[in-house]
Amino acid sequence: MAGSDLTLRPFLWRAANLFPEKEVVSRTHRGRERYTYGAFDDRVNALANALDALGVGPGARVGTLGWNHHRHFEAYYAVPLMGAQLHTVNVQLSDDHTEYIVNDAADDLLLVDPGGPVETLERVWDDLESPRAVVVMDEETPALDVDVSVHAYEDLLADHAGAYGWPDLDESQPAAMCYTSGTTGRPKGVEYTHKMMYAHAMMVMTPAALDVAEGDVVMPVVPMFHVNSWEFPFAATMIGAKQVYPGPSPDAETLVSLIRDEGVTLTAGVPTVWINVLDYLDEHDESVPSLERIVVGGSAAPEAVMRRYEDEYGVVIDHAWGMTETMSIGSVSRPKSTMAGLDSDEIYAKRAKQGLLSPGLEMKVVDAEAGERVPWDGESAGELYVRGATVTRAYYDRPEANAEEFEDGWLKTGDIVTVDGDGYIDVVDRAKDVIKSGGEWISSIELENALMGHDAVAEAAVVAVDHAKWRERPVAYAVRAAGEDVTGAKLREFLADDFPTWWLPDNVVFVESVPKTATGKFDKKRLREETDDPDLVWTPGK
Ligand code: ADP
Repeated sequence: MAGSDLTLRPFLWRAANLFPEKEVVSRTHRGRERYTYGAFDDRVNALANALDALGVGPGARVGTLGWNHHRHFEAYYAVPLMGAQLHTVNVQLSDDHTEYIVNDAADDLLLVDPGGPVETLERVWDDLESPRAVVVMDEETPALDVDVSVHAYEDLLADHAGAYGWPDLDESQPAAMCYTSGTTGRPKGVEYTHKMMYAHAMMVMTPAALDVAEGDVVMPVVPMFHVNSWEFPFAATMIGAKQVYPGPSPDAETLVSLIRDEGVTLTAGVPTVWINVLDYLDEHDESVPSLERIVVGGSAAPEAVMRRYEDEYGVVIDHAWGMTETMSIGSVSRPKSTMAGLDSDEIYAKRAKQGLLSPGLEMKVVDAEAGERVPWDGESAGELYVRGATVTRAYYDRPEANAEEFEDGWLKTGDIVTVDGDGYIDVVDRAKDVIKSGGEWISSIELENALMGHDAVAEAAVVAVDHAKWRERPVAYAVRAAGEDVTGAKLREFLADDFPTWWLPDNVVFVESVPKTATGKFDKKRLREETDDPDLVWTPGK
């Protein structure tokens, strides 16, 4: 006979009952706060009572626009454990995407951080269709220009203390939802059931994936609006580790001080963050003696950065690959025990790859044109297909995308990879037409369409160029319309009306024509080959 369903309830139970004295530290805009898992449990219960009183019931969707802090962490538990669904919205998106995503998910209630996220909410409010209440994740609420009830998070908790009766849930019930902007067209929702989250968090905990231990002090830097902070808030709670949440837009100095003061041993985030921290450490008389490991993913971890962390600071970087569709961690690169005889260069060559598929997943590598699997010889490249308990089988309400991006139960990742004889994945290119800068997506198609909407532009193609810090930056190739003499600076200004600053192309290169493929599409591959020129990255005044 089967045991009970796989849900997130035992995660909270275990931390609250077996590790009630362990700490959770949180940086908010008011400063550093700390409490124990025991207090966390009380607050999660109070939050569930409060949400219940606001009409959140089973099946409701609660959207969050928040950074990494204890209140958001409490919502990670209260919402799914009540039988509602936690929809984490990326606070760095354009207003247009934020509005689309909240409406598409039809969020019933929003939990919003003070500051930038509240300002975003006010700007898009008139176009939002579903939220019936807003809770500001703070001690008090600003005067908000919205036409529903607005509550201060701390007032709600104070008014609703007491135990909540967590229901028995079905493991197939959706617990969370994240949107990916990673491919062309509108962002797509991915729903995670309790069972998927249980499986992923358990997998993340194991030594085969992220190896989270009770004695670790875990600081998830990857945002909580980014694939649930790669599931650390679940894995670290279940294992009973001390957790440190670094708050809104943490800079390198903040991260280093939290690591030092709180004794952080394990942390995680995109390469840009750790490149910034390395620069900071180079420039200041600081060190990070407690830190043992950083999980780096979202974009390829540069080998030189991995080496410097280990050689100079004794910190091992575990390079990981994953997607919103795989609930984050889909592979991690560590040498196998059988590789003990390899020299340091050979080991780094392995670790700089995206590594071995996480336990519970299966993969194949397919040559799209030939429709055949490619051999695992470290050279033949093809698209990576994955499937398994933690891989979604469909996007939320997107039948067309589902037909394109899934095949016979496999997710077509859009990543072009080689796999070597030891099974190590190496991402060598991307079939999907997008740019990933500082760990966040920029849609080349949206920029192109906007540019081609300018009267002086006949054609425009946007591609990624390599960038030391951001990993990729967009560069536009534009053909001026006859008789026009528009400049790159003017086009950037034009785009700035609709896109966040970090989306704007670093350079606009004017060309006679954009190269095309045999079928008449922009030949991005050829353009990308041309973009190896470092001068293409824009420098102000140049
Ligand atoms: P996340 O940024 O959390 O990995 P997304 O769904 O936003 O999730 O992005 C997934 C995509 O990011 C992958 O399909 C791949 O193109 C890219 N990516 C993720 N990790 C790596 C990595 N370690 N190396 C290269 N590309 C990566």
